[in-house]
Amino acid sequence: MLHIDAKPIDLKLTTPFRISRGVQAISPNVIVQVNSDGHTGYGEASPDAYYGESVETVLACITMFAGNLGDDPFLIEDILNRLDKIIGLNPSAKAAVDMALYDLVGKMLNVPLYKLLGLNAKHTPSTSFTIGIDTPIEMAKKALLAKDYPILKIKVGTRHDLEIITAIREVSSAVIRVDANTGWTPKEAIRMINALAPYNIEFVEQPVAAHDLAGLKLVRDNVPLPVIADESCVTVEDIPQVADCVDGINIKLMKCGGVHQALKMIHVARAHNLRVMLGCMIESSLAITAAAHLTPLVDYADLDGNLLIDNDPYEGVKVVNGKLELPDAPGLGVREARS
Ligand code: MG
Repeated sequence: MLHIDAKPIDLKLTTPFRISRGVQAISPNVIVQVNSDGHTGYGEASPDAYYGESVETVLACITMFAGNLGDDPFLIEDILNRLDKIIGLNPSAKAAVDMALYDLVGKMLNVPLYKLLGLNAKHTPSTSFTIGIDTPIEMAKKALLAKDYPILKIKVGTRHDLEIITAIREVSSAVIRVDANTGWTPKEAIRMINALAPYNIEFVEQPVAAHDLAGLKLVRDNVPLPVIADESCVTVEDIPQVADCVDGINIKLMKCGGVHQALKMIHVARAHNLRVMLGCMIESSLAITAAAHLTPLVDYADLDGNLLIDNDPYEGVKVVNGKLELPDAPGLGVREARS
């Protein structure tokens, strides 16, 4: 019988992190461990209230899942199907279990996750580094501090988005991606993206409300930059609906339910000719490393949640000159941080 345990952990943000719909100073996450035959696999949930989750819902899910994992950690598809039957949604709770299972089987086979998946660790992309909403001057200061990162993801969806981008462009020649987190109306988005385009922006993430697919399409058809869906594309079932409205999707383990579902999303997105980005919530190096193992399959990585906290309990994937460098230890390849 697989044994599962969960414990809450508060990740402290280095500076309060603001996006268009709110601000946070702490990310209350949950660390999960699954044991079998003397091996232990670890996983992490970063529950997001926007998707209906909290530490309490994650812990309740883990309690419900405990007697239903069976005794064979290699039957990941069967186990996850069983969890989906027990309770719908709750993707970050399921992601934590999924991650722990992949970590466990990697350790039992003595191979890192990327090798288990047949992927080439040399093909990882560079990750972006995110700058949360603040005054244009403060955001430009943060861009200067982030000069080691070749790609910046700038949170927008404010009354002064053009001032933010001009201030950052004055101090940085990094690749810039912008993320409005549903903060604009379609009309605002079309006006704003056309105004931002001359500042050499790579793409725009989630300009309008999650449910407004017609608005997304209207924006995409009237701006010169690629549009990526994040909040509008949560699970694999969403992909056919958004495929005609955007140029790409942002996949997150915490939205879709883990590595197993993320792999399905990547392949379905490719079948729809979409670009693929792998993103994250505020997560420790545990969950970030799990996602990083999939990045040889994607075009863009935004895996910086661990870089935005100052009490990361783990170490795993590294960022070297912006590029993600996967660990070679078995499973996720994550270990407790040396303090
Ligand atoms: Mg986003």
